[in-house]
Parts: sequence; structure tokens; C-alpha cells
Amino acid sequence: MSRESLVIAIDGPAGAGKSTIAKLLADHLGIRLLDTGAMYRAFALAAQREGISVDDAESLGELAARTNVSFGEGDPPPVLLDGEDVSSEIRSLEIGQMASQASTVSAVRRRMVELQQAIVSTGNTILEGRDVTTVVAPQADLKIFLTASIEERARRRWHEIRERDPSARLTEVVKDVVERDHRDYTRQDSPLMLAEDAWIVESFGLTPVEVVDLILERLESIAR
Ligand code: C5P
Repeated sequence: MSRESLVIAIDGPAGAGKSTIAKLLADHLGIRLLDTGAMYRAFALAAQREGISVDDAESLGELAARTNVSFGEGDPPPVLLDGEDVSSEIRSLEIGQMASQASTVSAVRRRMVELQQAIVSTGNTILEGRDVTTVVAPQADLKIFLTASIEERARRRWHEIRERDPSARLTEVVKDVVERDHRDYTRQDSPLMLAEDAWIVESFGLTPVEVVDLILERLESIAR
């Protein structure tokens, strides 16, 4: 394992618990967390504000080239779209769906990967997303594919969404998760897939802390 900087990459489908696990790990290890999905969400918000349709690949590519997404200081670090804090605005079901669609466009992915790799190159990072073990940081010291059943993932998403929107229905969230999974697994450019040397972690029946403990044990065994 490289001593200069520690990089842990976590991929997995929607609602697998990546954000919770990555946050707990980042806090425990005292290193930065990079939520790559938040960057696609911020980009989708930029497209929505400019009135660009998620089907218009050319305009999305052109917008991506002139859009900057970064993170500010704080815990959790605010998501900045061209310097503006959009952390809450990007968490709706609608923006999630738009991000899922816009992220199938190669020029958008290229731009997001470029921004993400620049962040990783500055030092210790835990990153989570759909292509971080395969494309963004294939050199990571530890690569994890985190998963859980569709029922569990949809229920988890539903609880998260209900905190902001109490009228959200479980059936609507199940449909959203199924659609997003399908798009992530089948898109042409860097689909969600299992990296050859990724470690599969099935979170079913485990608390987030138990999952983090498993990962920390694994990290120790790699460091030995
Ligand atoms: O993780 P989150 O649900 O916030 O991500 C929003 C969308 O961005 C996902 O549905 C996925 O399609 C896309 N995404 C991606 N590659 C990543 C992270 C997210 O395509 N590395």
C-alpha cells in the first residue's frame, strides 16, 4: 500500500450505503471524502438552470466544458457549482434522475472524471460513485464494490428522501432506483461494473459501523 497517500474507492448501485460508509470511514481515518455522485448532480442542476434537455448530448457536452464543480470547506464539505453552494438543491429525486441521464454522455463523464482525478491527486481520499474503482482511481489502495438487495436499497433511499419530502412514496422510490440501476449498468461509457480486483461487500444485515469495521480490518491486513 502506498505510504504517501491513501486512496480508497467505493463503487456500487444506488442506495447501497456508499455515502454513509464512506463518510464514517473518512471521519475515522481523518481523510477527505469525495462524493462523485454529488458532482453529477450539481452538473444536472446547471443543465436544468440553463434549460438544456438531458437528451441534448451536444449542449450538455458544451456546458460540461465550461462548468466547474468543486467542494468547499466544512463537514460535510459543501458542493459548489461554479462557486455557489448547491448542496441542498441537488438532493431531489428530479435532480437524481437528471444526473443519471446526463451521466450517460461521454463528454460529461470526461469532464467530471478530470475534475475528480485532480482532487484525488492532491492526497488522501475516499471516493465513492459508479466508476471510481474502474476509471477515476483504478490505482486505489483498496477497491470496494458495496451492494445490498434492491428492497433494502430502495427502503434506504426512501428514508433519506422522506426527510426532505414526507410525501415521497416507496413505490416511486423503487421505480427510481430500478431505472437508475439499469442506466448505470447498461450505459456505453464506463458502466457500473465490478473491477477485477475489487472486494465485494454485501451490506445486508450489517450496521454501517459493522461494515466500516470490516473495511478497517481489510485495510490493516493490506498494510501489513
Ligand atoms: O450517487 P448519486 O445517486 O448521488 O449519483 C447521481 C447519479 O450520478 C447516479 O444515478 C449515477 O447515474 C451518476 N453517477 C455516475 N458516476 C459516478 C457517480 C454518479 O454516473 N461516479
